[in-house]
Amino acid sequence: MEKIQARCCVVGGGPAGMMLAFLLARAGVGVVLLEKHADFLRDFRGDTVHPSTLELMHELGLLGDFLQRPHQQLERLAVQIGDTRVWVADFRRLPTHAKFIVFMPQWNFLNFLAERATAYPEFQLRMQTEAVGLIEEDGAVKGVRAKTPNGELTVHCDLVVGSDGRQPSLSWRRHTHRKDYCKGHLNGKTSEAPLPKPSEVLCSIPLTENSWSQLKSGLYLSSLAQRLA
Ligand SMILES: Cc1cc2nc3c(=O)[nH]c(=O)nc-3n(C[C@H](O)[C@H](O)[C@H](O)COP(=O)(O)OP(=O)(O)OC[C@H]3O[C@@H](n4cnc5c(N)ncnc54)[C@H](O)[C@@H]3O)c2cc1C
Repeated sequence: MEKIQARCCVVGGGPAGMMLAFLLARAGVGVVLLEKHADFLRDFRGDTVHPSTLELMHELGLLGDFLQRPHQQLERLAVQIGDTRVWVADFRRLPTHAKFIVFMPQWNFLNFLAERATAYPEFQLRMQTEAVGLIEEDGAVKGVRAKTPNGELTVHCDLVVGSDGRQPSLSWRRHTHRKDYCKGHLNGKTSEAPLPKPSEVLCSIPLTENSWSQLKSGLYLSSLAQRLA
């Protein structure tokens, strides 16, 4: 059995987990990202990257390199009804650096972020590693148990984040409920935010009034990285 230690363990290498792990590593926080599949090329999971996401990429200094990857850009959107074409959106008017939607398969987006994250020594990506349980001591989560092709892996850490997405393998956290994970994981501070899917959030971050809207826009991830740094 392999044992590793990290400040944070993120379960699930989708866009949420990958971006969070990137941000944590970038902020100097040791992070292990567990992804149960061998690659990101397994499933159609979307191919549009929206201007708001591209703006975040710009803020992170990634936009230029990202746009070097093969993609298509869409500046305007029309609906054709018979012979009539109606323009329904014009992204050129947006106050963002990228005034278009990018079409790029999600696996290319994830590969790009993974490559960038790997540049940070604090980042560790473990593919083919599926979280199967939590390590708990005195009622607090202290890490994750995972299975790999080479046997069991245990990750001992201060913070566990579940970002296992739309089709989570619930077994690794089926005995859990939100309150368990909203206390004691970040300097003992607790959160009572109205999270829509509480069982999917395992970290304890004190939320402010507008945190939920920040979370939606992705900025919350940056603040998490700053708090852990
Ligand atoms: C058909 C379709 C089209 C879409 N099109 C678009 C689009 O064009 N643009 C857009 O922005 N969004 C699109 N979306 C939405 C987008 O795919 C999701 O919002 C996004 O994938 C959610 O990211 P996530 O990281 O939360 O979860 P996911 O992408 O589901 O990632 C979760 C990851 O966790 C891993 N995992 C699960 N359980 C475990 C475990 N126990 N241990 C380790 N790893 C685990 C999974 O393998 C997966 O890689 C589309 C969705 C669908 C279904």
